[in-house]
Amino acid sequence: MIVLIWIVGSYFIYNLSDRSAAMLSENYQTVESTKFLIQSIDEIKNQQVKYFFGDRMQFDDGSIAESQKIFEQHLLAVRNNITEEGEKSIIDQLEINYRQYKESFERIKGNKTNDSSIYFQELIPEYSINRNLIVELWDMNMDAISYKNSLLKNTAHRAFVYISIIGTICFLISAFFLFRYPRNIAHPIGELIRGITEIANRNYSKRLSFQSNDELGELAKAFNTMAAKLDEFEHSNLSELLFEKKRIDTIINNMNDAIIGLNDRSTIIFSNTNACKILGLTENALIGKNAPDIAIKNSVFQTVVSGILDKPVKDIKDFKPIRIELNGKVKYYAREILNVIITKTGEYDPVRAGLVIVLKNITHFLEQDEAKTNFIATISHELKTPISSLRLNLKLLDDNRVGPLNVEQKGIVQALKLETNKMQSLTKELLDMAQLESGNIQLNLQPVNTSVLFDFIMETSENFARTKHIQVDFKIEPDLPPLYADSEKTAWALMNVINNAIQYSSIGSKVQVIASRQENEVVFLVQDYGKGIDEKYHDLIFQKFYRVPDTIETGTGLGLSISKEFISKQNGRIWVESSPRNGSRFYISLPIYSDFDQNQPS
Ligand code: ADP
Repeated sequence: MIVLIWIVGSYFIYNLSDRSAAMLSENYQTVESTKFLIQSIDEIKNQQVKYFFGDRMQFDDGSIAESQKIFEQHLLAVRNNITEEGEKSIIDQLEINYRQYKESFERIKGNKTNDSSIYFQELIPEYSINRNLIVELWDMNMDAISYKNSLLKNTAHRAFVYISIIGTICFLISAFFLFRYPRNIAHPIGELIRGITEIANRNYSKRLSFQSNDELGELAKAFNTMAAKLDEFEHSNLSELLFEKKRIDTIINNMNDAIIGLNDRSTIIFSNTNACKILGLTENALIGKNAPDIAIKNSVFQTVVSGILDKPVKDIKDFKPIRIELNGKVKYYAREILNVIITKTGEYDPVRAGLVIVLKNITHFLEQDEAKTNFIATISHELKTPISSLRLNLKLLDDNRVGPLNVEQKGIVQALKLETNKMQSLTKELLDMAQLESGNIQLNLQPVNTSVLFDFIMETSENFARTKHIQVDFKIEPDLPPLYADSEKTAWALMNVINNAIQYSSIGSKVQVIASRQENEVVFLVQDYGKGIDEKYHDLIFQKFYRVPDTIETGTGLGLSISKEFISKQNGRIWVESSPRNGSRFYISLPIYSDFDQNQPS
């Protein structure tokens, strides 16, 4: 609109300025020239008066020539600026008359007459004709100026009218946009905002009602399509989700394991058929209930959730299988906890959403394990008598009183004795292990004099150390208090660790055994300078039958696991510090008698 007004205004302004410039050059200059023409012709006349009526001696030819020159210059100027009709003929006449007027004076002057009447008879009439022609020329141009001026006025008036009309139209259009458009735009945008809020609140049935053929109309259509698709998506999703939920429920219910799910507020959110059976509760009595509340009323559930409701899952210690009688049969279940960690939609940090307790039916494995333990116990027990008999017979064979043996035979008997000894210690270890597993181990806990125990292991280990040329240094802190332990089992464990130290050291090496008090315990340290044990095996070597890979020395892998059982059953600890090629430090710690006695009820 502004550009339109600018164009129209510029057009008229240029038009006006063009015309006034034209008027100036066309007529005003001629009017100016006529002024000079009159002045100069009057000057010529005055000079002539001086010539005829004044002192002829004072008459100046130069002044009249000067006026003539000015006259002729301006005559030429008006000739070159002929713009009006009839102007040319006036100028033609003026030229002819002027020439005649000039020549008449020259002629009279040449005659040198003193007759002044000639001036009135000849020169004044010619002067009057010239002057009248100039005045006529002046009038003509003044008329033209006044005519053109009226034309300019008309143009200016027209410009004013046009610009006013256009300005008014522009103003009306602006006013229309100003009042009409905000409403046209604001109304749909307001509805759109309300629509988006509804969608954000999951009201997918919301639709926009405004219709138009512009971008807002397109926007409304796109919004309605989106809402319809979301609506459809939600409904289809919900039914699919329900279907999937049923399927998962069915799978969980048909699983052999018992499964219970808790949310992050310890509310039971699901429990499968087996879990309900084990707990002796219906699904309705469990789901939606607070786990600690159920634990108070149900002892099985209390065992199942023991140690998990109040601490993070990773801190939960080993869980002993639970024994449950179902339909007259004893069943054993092992517990597994699955921590449910999720990252919620639109969030970045994972949070604990609850946990799932899986109770695995391990009855079958325990039965098989029991059968294996019984079998090992029976076999090792049965082997004890024939091995003892073998040892006795070998002893007899080696006795010169039975009959002399040659050197080779003696060598064979020695080898047989060695193998029989190994067999005997293996059957002993197996029997011990079977007893441990079946829980038949009998501990004879009583105060044990630490130095007596220390002397015993010192003597016992000497023989084996000698065969490997290993020097064993024994050092005991003076006045150690008595232990509260089973002396036989403790000696067995210590001997096993010392024998290992000798066995896994190279010939000629050294082993140190040190007994000292540390707070309420006596700690036995067995240090060797043998091949050492990589840290990754430190826990594994205390498991049954585990041997560090590439161990070439003979052994069963049972010694340390039995030692651990013996020591931990006496409330002691056994552990190792070692690294490859730096030897090993095995520690056995046991509680001292006085402290133990004070803490125990009699
Ligand atoms: P065994 O000695 O009969 O194999 P153990 O249970 O006593 O069984 O030991 C388990 C394994 O630990 C051994 O096979 C051996 O690889 C490793 N081990 C035990 N003591 C030492 C030691 N002092 N130095 C190096 N390795 C050892």
